[in-house]
Amino acid sequence: MERIYNVGIIGGGISGVVTALQLANYGVDSILFEQESSVVNGPPFCHLHAGGNLYPDISDEQCRILLKQSIEMARLFPQSIDERPTFISIPKSEKYEVGTILKRLDMLVAYYKSLIEEDPLNEILGAPQDYYRAYSEDDLTALSKQPSVKHPKTADEWMCNAIQLIDYKKLKTPVILVQEYGWNLFRLAAQAQLALEKSEKCNLKTSTNVTDIKDARDLNLDYNWEIHTQVAVYKVRYLVNSSGFNTGQFDESLQLKRERLIEFKAAYVSKWQPITGLIPELIFHGERGTPHGMAQLTPYCDDYYQIHGMTKDITLFENGLVQSKGKGGLPKFNKDIKEKLNRGWNDSEIINRTEKAIAFVEGFVPSFKSASVGGPPLYGAQQISGDDPNLRVGEVSFPSKSYARSEIIKASSALTVANQILHKIQEEAIIPTIQTELKQNQLLNSISKQAIDALASALAIERGYPEALSRLLIDKD
Ligand SMILES: Cc1cc2nc3c(=O)[nH]c(=O)nc-3n(C[C@H](O)[C@H](O)[C@H](O)COP(=O)(O)OP(=O)(O)OC[C@H]3O[C@@H](n4cnc5c(N)ncnc54)[C@H](O)[C@@H]3O)c2cc1C
Repeated sequence: MERIYNVGIIGGGISGVVTALQLANYGVDSILFEQESSVVNGPPFCHLHAGGNLYPDISDEQCRILLKQSIEMARLFPQSIDERPTFISIPKSEKYEVGTILKRLDMLVAYYKSLIEEDPLNEILGAPQDYYRAYSEDDLTALSKQPSVKHPKTADEWMCNAIQLIDYKKLKTPVILVQEYGWNLFRLAAQAQLALEKSEKCNLKTSTNVTDIKDARDLNLDYNWEIHTQVAVYKVRYLVNSSGFNTGQFDESLQLKRERLIEFKAAYVSKWQPITGLIPELIFHGERGTPHGMAQLTPYCDDYYQIHGMTKDITLFENGLVQSKGKGGLPKFNKDIKEKLNRGWNDSEIINRTEKAIAFVEGFVPSFKSASVGGPPLYGAQQISGDDPNLRVGEVSFPSKSYARSEIIKASSALTVANQILHKIQEEAIIPTIQTELKQNQLLNSISKQAIDALASALAIERGYPEALSRLLIDKD
């Protein structure tokens, strides 16, 4: 007899793979379709937003959710977390107030403490009292006279290395060092792919494009959906649409209206002269979308640095943010952006935008002038439900029976979405009620660091990036 799966998942981005892994952990079978040749191969992520400190405009509530969800994801995928801190500053020219940021940080420290009280294993960002540290101008002047440290361990050592390079007279003080870590997508992709391939519960179909879905819910059959690919049709009881910015396409075929934005963005890869010690992630706040949008420098191994500049000629694009028209139609990119998404970039645009990005960072880090293009950009498109482009937390919705639509905005929301789907399929009696709450994912835990190292490195190369981008600055044994 033809097999019927309990759950069919369209899209093997972080949301789809975490859902499949979480279902497998509870013994629920699924089939996962990903059109690319490996999973987590869509828009990039590099930053675990554990507290939302990169976003001065978001609500305290969003910051708390980002902190909690980031901790959950870091516990699930520890081998992809790069435990280097983040330097946060506000240029004197910008409207943001350091006092407001400090108040929010204190709120986050209290919340982090409460999460550790709930479960001591949540202490993955160090001790709560060390979550952040503020540095006055005098502190910075004193640290700038200290020798730099090749492998910094303490907050002062990280700040010492950073401040040797930064033109800190341009910044409001205090500046802040916070335990927001890096997040390596190649390592996460590798671990997830290896775990899914090993799983007896998930049928992973890479290089498989879902061309159509057929609704069989009213036909009184043993299944509710048919999932069509170019070569076969699969039957499932519950359908999860986690196809990223394509989510609207499947909604549309079901006549489900939903207001949404889709946004195309890019980060640039540069190579910088070896400097004497590791540096934290560097953030110079500014109003998004203006010529003074945030500048962000993300350190990787072997002197590679990734750059975001939240201006239209660096990370953001003219017409890069598009909205659904009327009452929830499918938003569409223009030809130029579609071409970038489908066929990649031409060399001159890579050079042009990367050089602009380098010059932007140079405004705060003068020696960054010597940086050069280090590889192709990391780019992609993502969805944002509703009409607020500043929303940073998106989750899952259940617009009709046996159908879930995942619309995460930050990768950290993936486990929350997976757990909500697990709950929903019990509520709809797709599977019997599950009694236990498992804290660990056995499948993920069974993948060795060596296996992750090897596949992450292969994936970076296969996708056209320097191999160094697959490694952690702070290696974990
Ligand atoms: C430049 C940039 C930087 C970012 N930085 C960060 C960051 O630092 N931290 C962070 O948390 N988030 C970051 N994000 C956001 C993050 O990338 C997204 O939130 C996340 O990738 C969304 O995951 P997803 O699984 O919902 O969707 P996606 O990752 O888009 O996955 C959807 C998958 O579905 C597949 N698919 C689509 N249609 C079909 C089909 N018909 N058949 C089969 N497969 C299909 C796609 O190939 C894709 O793999 C960034 C985004 C961008 C663009």
